[in-house]
Amino acid sequence: MTKRQPDSAPPARLGALATLPVFFRLAGRKVVLAGGGDGAAWKAELLAATGAQVLVFCAEPTDKMRATVSDLANVEWIARAWSAADLADASLAIGDVESDEEAQAFRDAARASGVPVNVVDRPAFCDFQFGSIVERSPVVIGISTDGAAPVFGQEIRARIETILPQGLRLWAQAAKNWRPAVLAKKFDFRTRRTFWERFTALAFSKADDQPQETDLHDLLAQIETGGADLPRGSVALVGAGPGDPDLLTVKAVRALQSADVVLYDDLVSPRTVNAARREATRIAVGKRGYKPSCTQEDITAMLVSLAREGKRVVRLKGGDPMIFGRAGEEIAGVVQAGIPIEIIPGVTAASGAAASLGLSLTERDVARRLQFITAHGRNGKLPDDLALSALTDPRATTVVYMGVKTLPLLIERLLAEGIDPATPAIAVERATWPDERRIAAPLSSLSAQVAQAQIEGPCLVLIGAALGGNLLPLRSHK
Ligand code: SAH
Repeated sequence: MTKRQPDSAPPARLGALATLPVFFRLAGRKVVLAGGGDGAAWKAELLAATGAQVLVFCAEPTDKMRATVSDLANVEWIARAWSAADLADASLAIGDVESDEEAQAFRDAARASGVPVNVVDRPAFCDFQFGSIVERSPVVIGISTDGAAPVFGQEIRARIETILPQGLRLWAQAAKNWRPAVLAKKFDFRTRRTFWERFTALAFSKADDQPQETDLHDLLAQIETGGADLPRGSVALVGAGPGDPDLLTVKAVRALQSADVVLYDDLVSPRTVNAARREATRIAVGKRGYKPSCTQEDITAMLVSLAREGKRVVRLKGGDPMIFGRAGEEIAGVVQAGIPIEIIPGVTAASGAAASLGLSLTERDVARRLQFITAHGRNGKLPDDLALSALTDPRATTVVYMGVKTLPLLIERLLAEGIDPATPAIAVERATWPDERRIAAPLSSLSAQVAQAQIEGPCLVLIGAALGGNLLPLRSHK
């Protein structure tokens, strides 16, 4: 048996590549565009955006092409068909042509001049293809599926669009602008790398802010003082939504993608926590119902101490952090410690449940009031200061959070207060999760049915005439 030597294996060879992504600088260079249709007009605009000198050859341009030519200074229309001589000294040639014969002729002419060629919608005649683009110039991301399926490429593009904040372009430009100042410091390789790592962390944590000269000075100062002055940590309270990980907001995904540490509740599904950066430390701080768990004080203290170590801390809370999430205590603790805090809203359980049920909570003429209540007071009992007259309003939709344990008592109170016993009511357990359950019944018989169902997961109780409609069937989840 041969013994494996650590680190002795050569790195695996690169797998097959359908195409090579390259990024052409075209500013000031000549590009030939043969054809004047709408498709060619879009190519003209794209090429012009790079600063290329675009020559459009065609006898009869469409209105769209005419508008492109008149709007863009570096797109020039030459009112005749292309000829082989036009391709001399061009950097790229793009043909939007009618027939395979013309495509062939165009490609042959381009090749004879040594110009890479693309013929729109005729891959057999192309040296290169245009990909989908995510533009945060100077950052430009190109996506190619090698013609497999453009829609697939567009979806990939949409996903990348969502995770890259628009402001990244400013930070990329700042990196270009600041590079000479950083080089002038003559740092060694490692230090220079540390500088750019910190720059990048800052860019992603403040992507929506304009980079400032003070940012550069602070970063340089940190490096020059031997890094003793760690970057300041921060805390984001992030709404995780009701369970389905696809219900995270774009902002929430970005926060998770740049987190160093994620503190999450029991209510947050594992797949949602998985949206966090791979390197992020994940800490469960469940304080579910009546089990022993981290206290609120422990959690707040943890947020503060992690941020003080310079970490970007994400506090991931079920639903919306500002609805029955004790956010006030965490915000106060973090603010008091002088740590920057951001709050990112989420889809609250009531919204998730309503969407899943397919019932509008404010059905016209049926509901005039929508109210979220908690049926779980400080001592775990039904709060005795609930406004029963608001809850028995026949035009109200009431969503009860944390309401299973005290449901029999709540319903008893409502009936005693004169609510119609036939008022429609629905308990929804694990709304938007793959194993969502619903129990729909007139209010007077709901608690018996809920007791029988042995609810264990998070559960909402929705009460009101608006809940009387037909329910959408349960979605089959991934
Ligand atoms: N901040 C959360 C609520 C936290 S209080 C939000 O905005 O949704 C916890 C209660 O929320 C649970 O007891 C339950 O009543 C409700 N809840 C949270 N997620 C739920 C879900 N997926 N389905 C049903 N109820 C849910």
